Amino acid sequence: MATIRFEALKETLQREPIKVKENVKRSSLFGQHVFNKHAMQQYLTRAAYESVMNAIEKGTKIDRKIADQVAVSMKDWAISKGATHYTHWFQPLTGATAEKHDAFFESINGSLAMEKFDGEQLVQQEPDASSFPNGGIRNTFEARGYTAWDPTSPAFVYDTTLCIPTIFVAYTGEALDNKTPLLRALQAIDTHATAICKYFDKNVSKVNATLGWEQEYFLIDDALATSRPDILITGRTLLGHIPAKGQQLDDHYFGSIPTRAMGFMQDLEQECMLLGIPLKTRHNEVAPNQFELAPIFEEANLAVDHNSLLMDIMGKVARKHRFKVLFHEKPFASINGSGKHNNWSLSTADGTNLLSPGKTPMKNLQFLTFFVNTIKAVHRYEELLRASIASASNNHRLGANEAPPAIISVFIGSQLSKVLDELENVTKGKLSPQEKTDLKLNIIGKIPEILLDNTDRNRTSPFAFTGNKFEFRAVGSWANCAIPMTVLNTIVAKQLKEFKIEVDTLVDNKNLKKDEAIFNVLREYIKDSKKIRFEGDGYGEAWEKEAKKRGLSNNKTTPEALKVKIAKGTVALFEEMNVLNKVELEARYEIDLEEYTKRIQIESRVLGDIARNHIVPTAINYQNTLLENTKNLKEIFGDDFKNIAREQIELIMVISNHITEINALTLKMIDERRKANKYSGIKSAEAYCKKVKPFFEEIRYHCDKLETMVDDNLWPLTKYRELLFTR
Ligand code: ADP
Ligand code: MG
Repeated sequence: MATIRFEALKETLQREPIKVKENVKRSSLFGQHVFNKHAMQQYLTRAAYESVMNAIEKGTKIDRKIADQVAVSMKDWAISKGATHYTHWFQPLTGATAEKHDAFFESINGSLAMEKFDGEQLVQQEPDASSFPNGGIRNTFEARGYTAWDPTSPAFVYDTTLCIPTIFVAYTGEALDNKTPLLRALQAIDTHATAICKYFDKNVSKVNATLGWEQEYFLIDDALATSRPDILITGRTLLGHIPAKGQQLDDHYFGSIPTRAMGFMQDLEQECMLLGIPLKTRHNEVAPNQFELAPIFEEANLAVDHNSLLMDIMGKVARKHRFKVLFHEKPFASINGSGKHNNWSLSTADGTNLLSPGKTPMKNLQFLTFFVNTIKAVHRYEELLRASIASASNNHRLGANEAPPAIISVFIGSQLSKVLDELENVTKGKLSPQEKTDLKLNIIGKIPEILLDNTDRNRTSPFAFTGNKFEFRAVGSWANCAIPMTVLNTIVAKQLKEFKIEVDTLVDNKNLKKDEAIFNVLREYIKDSKKIRFEGDGYGEAWEKEAKKRGLSNNKTTPEALKVKIAKGTVALFEEMNVLNKVELEARYEIDLEEYTKRIQIESRVLGDIARNHIVPTAINYQNTLLENTKNLKEIFGDDFKNIAREQIELIMVISNHITEINALTLKMIDERRKANKYSGIKSAEAYCKKVKPFFEEIRYHCDKLETMVDDNLWPLTKYRELLFTR
């Protein structure tokens, strides 16, 4: 009998949901464990508070004496929340988060001790970082890395540790993490968007990018997940026959949240409230045991930190409720995968959403300016945007019969399309008073009304305008949002920079009024970027053909998609916007390729192991039972046995055939792996993609067939129906 599988099932069926008390208002929990403005006002001197606020709002430096003061107060606050340790919390290039805990505790003269934490420890740390990926940066420069406090993301206490969000950079200045380039990109969008805002309102002094992510995930019982080596090691199932019932009835989506999952969510939400993560919605998703949660949107840097922190906490809370969270983009074949929609917009310091039209014609023109410039940026850098979401796991969604396609396009809805179509006809050069009035009243004046009723949504679009924000839907559920957010903000910043130059040139040299110049440049942008706009079905084959005609890229594999990350134009763009230099880009490219190669390599090894050491022996075992049975039938019935045991004999042969295939294919796959391992970088990644990976489906086919034939009592791997429908 398949012991592990049946014990796991028994354990799962015996579980009692953990009840979570809801006796405190969520609002009174909110931010309790965050060193936020409120806490700072309480704990800091006025001078220290102002210095930190200036650093947050204007990016000014905090001087050493003040840093000492802040550190001492932060320590006192953290100890009052039960902290014993502190850590510089950062986001290395692997996508996860990293922390090394140090105690506040220090001994003085051996027998006496105290809790100590000063400015030096707050501002800068040198983690033993040799094991974090750096894509050769540190080898090149023989420099060490250090972490440095990011005051724009508040410190927090999690469990008994004070966590200080930090950047991670080499002593020579190169970014070794995902946060540093994000902060630089946010600086770029602030600079260039603020300059544009001044066309419409002289008082605007700062623009923030905003991000509201929606996190999808699966919850699988801990024991069941652990019973599957593939889930345990790769985060997804590498085999498994599709169950009779999947998601076709939509009963999970529309049903109530299962009790055990509900307990997990309540626990998680309370923890998130304490940490200031403003979770707002929770619901079942389409696939069985799939869920989604989303917070209220926040400033992008904070939102990125909150998403990374959330993913970490989800794992911990899940353990308590005896679940495993699957963040993989495609844990189960033939069942919907998970994504992480990134809702993005721009907002001035006073909270005005720049992708939302206003009450005056000028505000509507401002909306249109940011709207059209974003579309233009996406068109120009579509390939880069595609690269920003490329990974081994997300590749199972992109271009693999499931939303969204590997082709980047923008959906804006039929009504806004009509507005842009009309704007294409704006007269070149000076506009007559009549035309100006007409534009302001009848064309862009209509936008607010249109958006009130912006109901036509296209779920197949990877980049959609949804009323007052763009929604980048192709981001993977496992991804660190910092990467797509860095690219999106950089390309829009670059676009706005060019827009300003063009408008100013028309005003200075062609004697156009500001609004005339804006209309003129927007008209050209609308024409130029028309090819990226697509309102139809993004999943269809017709779109692939059409997109090809339009000259849009369709990079289906990850190695193919990543190449643009070091293209000449990319280096020029990131260097011009001061986000990443050539060395940093090349390092990231190397790391991405290595990560891809390693993931496929690990999957290939796990698959080979399961196929040959679990499936084949099980099949042989069952075959022996059939042989025994056939032999016995022959003994009793003599020559008649051929008729009586026909099915058994056939099955014995079919099983033999599958076993032979599995063994042969696995050996071939191992051979290809050996060849691929001789290369490095892109060559190795491509070999894994084109030569090793294709065996996965083939080997799986034979294993899944065996699953339908072999006695259920013998089958060693927990089955899809058990993983998906046991709660
Ligand atoms: P759905 O896409 O599921 O239909 P909504 O459109 O209501 O849901 O919103 C999805 C997400 O968009 C929410 O998490 C919300 O925080 C975020 N969002 C709303 N406005 C903005 C904005 N201006 N900037 C960034 N994110 C936003
Ligand atoms: Mg959404």
